[in-house]
Amino acid sequence: MNTARKSAVQTVVNREVVSPRLAGTKVSDYYASNVFTDTAMREYLSDDAYKAVRGAIKNGTKISREIADAVAAGMKSWAMNKGATSYTHWFQPLTGLTAEKHDMFFMPKGDGAMEVFGGDALVQQEPDASSFPSGGIRATFEARGYTAWDPGSPAFIMEIGDGKTLCIPTIFISYTGESLDYKAPLLKASHFLEEAALPVVHMFDKEATRVTATLGWEQEYFLIDEALFYQRPDLMFAGRTLLGAAPQKGQQFEDHYFGSIPERVYAYMLDLETECHKLGIPVRTRHNEVAPAQFECAPMFEEVNVAVDHNSLLMDLMDRIARRHKLRVLLHEKPFAGINGSGKHNNWSMGTDTGKNLLSPGKTPKNNILFLTFFVNVIKAVNEYADLLRASIASANNDHRLGANEAPPAIISVFTGSYMSDVLNEIEKRVAKGKYDELTNANLKLDIHNKIPDVMLDNTDRNRTSPFAFTGNKFEFRAVGSSANCALPMTIMNAIVGKQLIAFRKEVESLVKAGETKEGAIMRVLRQYISDSKRVMFEGDGYSDAWAKEAKKRGLSNVKTTPYALEFYNTKKAKEVLVDTGIYTARELEARVEILHHSYTLKIDTEARILADLAINHIIPCSLDYMSKLMANVKAMKEVGIPATSAKAQKEMAAEIALHVNAIKTLVDKMNDAIAKAHHGKSTSDHSKNYCDKVKPFFEQIRSHVDALEGMIDDNLWAMPKYREMLFIR
Ligand code: ADP
Ligand code: MG
Repeated sequence: MNTARKSAVQTVVNREVVSPRLAGTKVSDYYASNVFTDTAMREYLSDDAYKAVRGAIKNGTKISREIADAVAAGMKSWAMNKGATSYTHWFQPLTGLTAEKHDMFFMPKGDGAMEVFGGDALVQQEPDASSFPSGGIRATFEARGYTAWDPGSPAFIMEIGDGKTLCIPTIFISYTGESLDYKAPLLKASHFLEEAALPVVHMFDKEATRVTATLGWEQEYFLIDEALFYQRPDLMFAGRTLLGAAPQKGQQFEDHYFGSIPERVYAYMLDLETECHKLGIPVRTRHNEVAPAQFECAPMFEEVNVAVDHNSLLMDLMDRIARRHKLRVLLHEKPFAGINGSGKHNNWSMGTDTGKNLLSPGKTPKNNILFLTFFVNVIKAVNEYADLLRASIASANNDHRLGANEAPPAIISVFTGSYMSDVLNEIEKRVAKGKYDELTNANLKLDIHNKIPDVMLDNTDRNRTSPFAFTGNKFEFRAVGSSANCALPMTIMNAIVGKQLIAFRKEVESLVKAGETKEGAIMRVLRQYISDSKRVMFEGDGYSDAWAKEAKKRGLSNVKTTPYALEFYNTKKAKEVLVDTGIYTARELEARVEILHHSYTLKIDTEARILADLAINHIIPCSLDYMSKLMANVKAMKEVGIPATSAKAQKEMAAEIALHVNAIKTLVDKMNDAIAKAHHGKSTSDHSKNYCDKVKPFFEQIRSHVDALEGMIDDNLWAMPKYREMLFIR
């Protein structure tokens, strides 16, 4: 076998399990021990400082300079007691990754030093951040960007080896106040949703004073051994395999899903969970996923702001801890062709401070109407803004899942489950007959609460083909990509539902003014919404061609690629719900779209270059080696007088290899021409579309020849680890 590949495989076979560094036997003993929790704040802050931070968290009240100093002092003592020696503002710039710039607490003083950390350092920092994407908002000559403390997400200590750093979650804004990150718009959208939802909640429950969006993500990922990873430049630089023939055994046996977890992976998971728990990330579930070498972890849901931070932190931890175990985590949406990709289901709901989940069916008829109100309004919002939801999950990576014969489709639809769809039909029929009051009475057969749990368990899980499914007490947005920052789809979710709730309230109020009872008005408006939203509701198989046809008839978009999906951000509708609501400024929105186009272009460009390199410098050389061997064999046979007919197979194989080699060379040349031309055109969206339409199509064509060669060439000569090695060696 090719020596590098062979030794990589040997390394994997001989790997020992790395023992996990457990923090204790009971999670509750160390849970959130690295978080500046409410309890820690009480211990380390004065009453005034504590109250001020609580106020900032609950009501967004400003924190004065003196108080900031007091909070910083408390935070510093806490962090230093934990062994931290440095601090950083921790933020999520538009690269989609997390960013940090560490400063030490110590300051030289006299002939010694002392540890300092004041209110200034806590509240605001100016990282030299000129290289983060800003979509033109911030030219490099005015490169100032500021990070500003977000008290809504607790500070934490990140442990890297023996080093410990106090991390302060922040938002990232430009000198002119425009947001340059994922967090600021999310916070604004959550606030917008709350303002819109509270008055609607008050129609039913006067006691609630807060409504928060909740998020429980489910993170899918692949793990492969580090030795094999390093033999695959495509994995190293693109995060996915650009080449590789399907293994003889794929996922068709479905024997990996929920199967027993391999020991090395289990050790990794334990380590990951320990680190998560110390950071207060409430991960509770782990299991094998559908594809070989694919896994999932999921937490208990949290308030959306904190949940987003926790997911970003998790992705960071996953990578770091995998390295400790000589593994690599692949967060890419489609690391391997022909087997399932990875998503990050975003389970989303809204809850009140009175403990009510607004998407959980109530026990009493009154609570049922509350539930129905929010349930139907979410569906209506998705119906109105399906295209924006599609845009919110658009990325080069995710294009491999959406609309590429894989879950879920690029068509946004809502799955309610047959029970809820019957309920909605019933409402539509009966309200149409004008019997609103009857509907709100106990005699209405909407005994939803008792029926939903079992019905839902039966129904909803079976439909894995829907991008947006009701799962009993929350909606599950399944189309989000595994490597995505959840903030963007959650910002859009909060925005569209907020916008919808404002419209709902207005309609109900005007009916009430005209003399309708409150319940009657609500039911009438909901009925209208149900009729309006019919087109987006779909219970069938989301992968089928029949659905694609039907969806087209219904006027639903089916946009399969990112550069075109991003166009939805430029529509009047997008501006109404994202700009007019104050969530983004027009410039911020434009800048983001620019960045998304640009990062698409970069991604495809990188992939194209890696593919060209692999094809020309790895695949063709070993193919030619084998071809020479074959031809030498034919010659040798002739020399010893073996009849030419006996050398037929060798000759044919050599000729076939030559055909593939020629095809590859021609295609790579054409692709390089396409790359050279792709930057023609004025705008970043012209460029991304060129890459999408003119460059990307070569990938599959080149790959098909390479994968055919993989099936022919002497296994000993093949340089790159094969699918079976990456996916099945544990
Ligand atoms: P699945 O069958 O999809 O794995 P689970 O019941 O395990 O479903 O839940 C998946 C996720 O949904 C978990 O992260 C859970 O915390 C989250 N979840 C449950 N209730 C809510 C809610 N009210 N809001 C947001 N997420 C929720
Ligand atoms: Mg799920």
